[in-house]
Amino acid sequence: MPVLILQGHNETYAATEMMRLFFGNPVDVSPGRIQAGAPGNSLLSSLAPQGENVRVSTAVCPSDADRTGTTEPQPAFTAVVASGQATREIKRQLYQLLSVLTKRSYPWGSLVGIRPTLVAAECLKQTGDEEQARHLLTDTWFVSPHKADLAIVTARTEEAVLNKIPPGHLLVYVGIPFCPTRCSYCSFITRDAPAHAALLEPYVHAIVTEARTLFQKIRTPVAALYVGGGTPTSLSAGQLDRLLQSVLSCLPLAPDAEITVEAGRPDTIVEDRLHVLRAAGVTRLCINPQTFHDRTLQRIGRCHSTEQTLAACHLAAGMGFDHVNLDLIGGLPGEQPADLDFSLEQALALKPASLTLHALALKRSSALYEADAGTRQSGGSSPLMLPTGAQSLQPAWDDKLQTARKLLAASGLYPYYLYRQKQAIGGLENTGFALAGKACLYNVGMMSDRRGVVGIGSGAVSKKVRGMRVERQANPRELAIYIERVKALTERKISWYTT
Ligand code: SF4
Repeated sequence: MPVLILQGHNETYAATEMMRLFFGNPVDVSPGRIQAGAPGNSLLSSLAPQGENVRVSTAVCPSDADRTGTTEPQPAFTAVVASGQATREIKRQLYQLLSVLTKRSYPWGSLVGIRPTLVAAECLKQTGDEEQARHLLTDTWFVSPHKADLAIVTARTEEAVLNKIPPGHLLVYVGIPFCPTRCSYCSFITRDAPAHAALLEPYVHAIVTEARTLFQKIRTPVAALYVGGGTPTSLSAGQLDRLLQSVLSCLPLAPDAEITVEAGRPDTIVEDRLHVLRAAGVTRLCINPQTFHDRTLQRIGRCHSTEQTLAACHLAAGMGFDHVNLDLIGGLPGEQPADLDFSLEQALALKPASLTLHALALKRSSALYEADAGTRQSGGSSPLMLPTGAQSLQPAWDDKLQTARKLLAASGLYPYYLYRQKQAIGGLENTGFALAGKACLYNVGMMSDRRGVVGIGSGAVSKKVRGMRVERQANPRELAIYIERVKALTERKISWYTT
């Protein structure tokens, strides 16, 4: 069913994401019309006012044969809902129709373009009961039973973690967009650090300028600082020290504030940089093995080995970092679900306080996305995306994530936050797991849209939360522009943030 006509509404984004889920890329979008996959019949998604509410309908457009009554009736769905519920109902019906027509279903059902835990929290509030909330997720939103359970459990933990951040407190993000090399799946604005060595010093200077100027005026207590990227440990020990000490000296940090540094690439984790991080009082260190298979690491361009990962973790533990978070990715090129078993086993043997398990996302502007272009140009979908059929890897990855959750629970690691990315393998999720009391405040607070965020650095996004209203403002992504205009943009940000 390749053409979807929108009538009486303009929910193009939601409808496009749903078409992409079922048919993969490319998706051609023009006003009121979305086309994906091989040619076929047209679908109609319509919305019309009905009293104070709206009527949402989704159906297959009748063909000439249908009109003469020579074919089987096609499925059609309709419902009257409050106008505030229209977007979700459009997605819900579209999912239902596409699912019937393609005979495919996805573990997260119609929850596309929305955080599953947000819907789970609403279901909990609406029913006041976990079992009923699970039923609402499975019966109304077509979420599979095990994902409904994951969403409910995680939503409860997210709320408890969020409550540890007083509503008036801020989160601060500092972005260091440099990495030793570029991973094939990366779509961030990172630069190759060795090739841009001349920019490192001016960039650190600009970060310090922005932080000092901002926090002379913004004196709201900071509950969590997250230094990410990129790979902040691409900086030399001296640059890292200057950056951290300068930023920390001007931040109004709350007592017991969380300080995370994403060391990311194990090949950048060396003793002098770890000394700097310890001296700065870093409370949470992220090391990202992604996989424990050397052949995959080479294939994705990470230029480090599993031996370096193990050495980095042992070094960090020996130097007293008691909270190391490890990141793993399921679905990396060339890996089968069974390959995750070994990576998980190796990761758990390192006894991380937290572990984030990602489903690979095929992001635009990544080398991997380009490499996948052949499949897409020939009119096919990425095999990673399809849930059923000969090429499909989705059910096996879904099973593997379920098994992983059990294994992690056996090591005391439970889900505390969850999000989904566009074009993730099989529409699957990323989940953060942590030991009791070790959930990352920054991750939960930032994802919640219920706490303010000050983003520092090129491309960093700040978030202003005023009641139910959330506004965002981004710094320029281009390094040279950010460095050149840092003073002016910081003044503008102060006035935006404080009004
Ligand atoms: S380490 Fe992270 S930010 Fe750097 S290139 Fe790889 S995926 Fe991108």
